[in-house]
Amino acid sequence: MQEKPPITTPVIISRAEHGISRANISESALKVLYRLKKSGYQSHLVGGGVRDLLLGREPKDFDVATDATPEQVKACFGNARIIGRRFRLVHVRFGREIIEVATFRSMQFQQSEQSNEGMVLRDNEFGSIEEDALRRDFTVNALYYNISDFSVIDYSGGMADLEAGLLRLLGDPETRYREDPVRMLRAARFAAKLGFNIEAATEEPISRLGHLLAEVPSARLYEEVLKLFISGYAVSAFEKLRHYDLFSRLFPQTEEALSHEDHEFPLTLVLKGLENTDRRLAQGKPVTPAFLFAVLLWEPLRLVAEELQAGGMPFYQALQEAGGLVIGRQIQRVAIPRRFSTPMREIWTLQARFHNTKGKRPLRLLAHPRFRAAYDFLLLRAESGEVDPELASWWTRFQEEQGLDPSGGSHKPAARRRRRRKPRKKRSSA
Ligand code: ATP
Ligand code: MG
Repeated sequence: MQEKPPITTPVIISRAEHGISRANISESALKVLYRLKKSGYQSHLVGGGVRDLLLGREPKDFDVATDATPEQVKACFGNARIIGRRFRLVHVRFGREIIEVATFRSMQFQQSEQSNEGMVLRDNEFGSIEEDALRRDFTVNALYYNISDFSVIDYSGGMADLEAGLLRLLGDPETRYREDPVRMLRAARFAAKLGFNIEAATEEPISRLGHLLAEVPSARLYEEVLKLFISGYAVSAFEKLRHYDLFSRLFPQTEEALSHEDHEFPLTLVLKGLENTDRRLAQGKPVTPAFLFAVLLWEPLRLVAEELQAGGMPFYQALQEAGGLVIGRQIQRVAIPRRFSTPMREIWTLQARFHNTKGKRPLRLLAHPRFRAAYDFLLLRAESGEVDPELASWWTRFQEEQGLDPSGGSHKPAARRRRRRKPRKKRSSA
């Protein structure tokens, strides 16, 4: 038998002593919690949901933890699916909302695989709630809201850290970062999102261990990048990442290009672009990863294109060539799905076409499905001092003359917009 880690006595914060109200928990999450409880299982809300509720913030999603196995969870619901290889979880679906249900996991790695750097590749050992609490990342993410008596269970001093605004990793920080280097990105992200400080021992290894991110699959980093930059606090996340020298691990070409100190506009463009996404999200407007990546990779692309132009290549072609090159290098670190890299390249190459303001060409450009996003991108370039603001104003006026509202567009993928406008064509059966 394997030895179990020592069990700590939890602090139980009763219903009367904390501010979580069921009125702020989604109906779907409550349904899942109650159903599990009725079936005789332990049933808790856990993670960011509990943390955000205690902070009086609106949770992004609700995660549930239970002692029921994934199969047992699935059997409780008609609308459930077991997912995941590394961690097996159950997704319970209610329309657009998905409640993630995880079985308590242990921290015992004897039967899991670990890489040379100490990274956990697979851990699926079920455990007790205590063990589940201790294998989580930050103390403030390891609080459990128990649906059976509405109390909050705290195994790690998470409540005190929450009140102090501190991010503290459970266990030895270096070991925890080696197990999963993404925890460094999560530290920066939660610091940005919550405005918390990173506790000294948790903070110390980050600048030393950033290189471990090279071990993380590019698809997982893509997911993390979206969480960092498409969540309404992108500017702050960007600053934290740069502060801990993590941005360079995600976007090495951009960091390189930004470190040239001969101009200010590249950094201004990134900051304004991120401000823009934060603002759009605050206004409930859509934001596409294509625009975000176009912003983040513009300066490295522009530098390559400049060189190609110096060799005699026309601007449009230089943008195209440089785009391919820069994306090729970028996706070795952070994957970019083709459905976003394609429109991103269009946003870039259309920049060349804005210089043609004569004849029929402007009208044709206006009809381009990516015109909106490309125009917004031109505005960013103008605001940051990279192109003549007069060019951007020309295009603003031109749209107004054509009866369009230059500020009313969306960044939504054009294909979708087109589909909505056009009545369905009959398909020939050939
Ligand atoms: P968000 O507000 O972004 O949803 P979150 O804390 O809920 O924040 P999730 O990624 O949804 O973050 O993860 C849910 C919970 O799972 C976390 O609160 C934490 O307890 C645990 N967790 C997630 N990722 C890790 C990790 N890499 N290592 C350890 N525990 C993790
Ligand atoms: Mg969450």
